[in-house]
Amino acid sequence: MLKLKLAILGATGSIGDSTLKVAAKNPDRIEIPAIAANKNWRKLLKIAQDFNVAHVGIFDENAYKEAKESGLFEGKKLYCGLSGLTEIATLPEVNMVVAAVVGTTALKPTLAAIEAGKDIALANKELLVMAGKFVMEAARRKKVRMLPLDSEHNAIFQCLHGERRCDVAKLLITASGGMFRDYTYEQMLQIKPADALKHPNWNMGPKVTIDSSTLANKGLEVIEAKWLFDMTPDQIQVVVHRQSYVHSMVQFVDGSILAHISPPSMTFAISHSILYPERGNQVCEPLDFTKVISMDFAPPDTVRFPCLRHAYGALRAGGTATTAFNASNEVAVAEFIKGNIRWVDIASVVGETLSAFNPIEPTSLDDILESDSLARARAAEIIKNKFLH
Ligand code: MG
Repeated sequence: MLKLKLAILGATGSIGDSTLKVAAKNPDRIEIPAIAANKNWRKLLKIAQDFNVAHVGIFDENAYKEAKESGLFEGKKLYCGLSGLTEIATLPEVNMVVAAVVGTTALKPTLAAIEAGKDIALANKELLVMAGKFVMEAARRKKVRMLPLDSEHNAIFQCLHGERRCDVAKLLITASGGMFRDYTYEQMLQIKPADALKHPNWNMGPKVTIDSSTLANKGLEVIEAKWLFDMTPDQIQVVVHRQSYVHSMVQFVDGSILAHISPPSMTFAISHSILYPERGNQVCEPLDFTKVISMDFAPPDTVRFPCLRHAYGALRAGGTATTAFNASNEVAVAEFIKGNIRWVDIASVVGETLSAFNPIEPTSLDDILESDSLARARAAEIIKNKFLH
């Protein structure tokens, strides 16, 4: 196997941490010439020293200046801002880009990496939800591999291995159900940001954790699955599985169902995706079947968790409706974290934005970015009129 030469965009986050664990266990197969993050330059410095990284990107300008003035990055090349991240993603010494920066920041560097012929290990959700059509088209044209790092999509990817596309009946995406899966509506009205920032099984960043609690995250994953695996909305079903051992399943035309099972650690998905088609050295303990293990499954409740219903609505509406779903959700989550709206209002803002939104079939990235800002403005207006007095 060709030695992997990774650029990790989002090296200081939870996906970055897990990727570094996988790299540390497979030093003969993985090198890390480049890393980047938003502003935690001290952590970047530590990673750069531990993994002998030559190129370091810092998105935030002030953090970049601080890092430069510290004099601690001697012998390493520092990059700043979005152009810096894009430069890092297209370096000749890199052959795979781990796209793990959150939000729309990932769009430009990842597309540039695809154009430069780099394989993509994809953790960022917005990329496919906003611009799936263009990202997948570019990947096909440049013959680069789009390897899914998200545990659900990686699970599906593993279950599909060696199967014929025409034999696949549907994808079964599992969801833990989030923090509030057993809450009544009355309890949901009392949820505070601090409550929503805890996740029962997974350790993730704040935006993803809140999205998990509303099932908006699962909605984004359904949309992602459509692009990654070329499925219709009816071929993607969500299953609540509270233990997070089964990371997703594939049902075939004969009725058989294959599942991917591991403890809830991202290292399994990351190791499989980046080292595919080989298997890497074990990073975490697998499930121990000498002990009692229970697993249960149930359909999701889209009455108590309307964000999931809205995601399917957007997917069926097509075009830039999924962009509007993502944009309005981002705006609503930010206002919830600030304490300006209640947790239950997140879904209302998303639903109202979508019902007032006319999706278009995008012909360029600019169309998508315009729909994104329109939806953000609409969501902000709904919040202002309804909740802020
Ligand atoms: Mg996931």
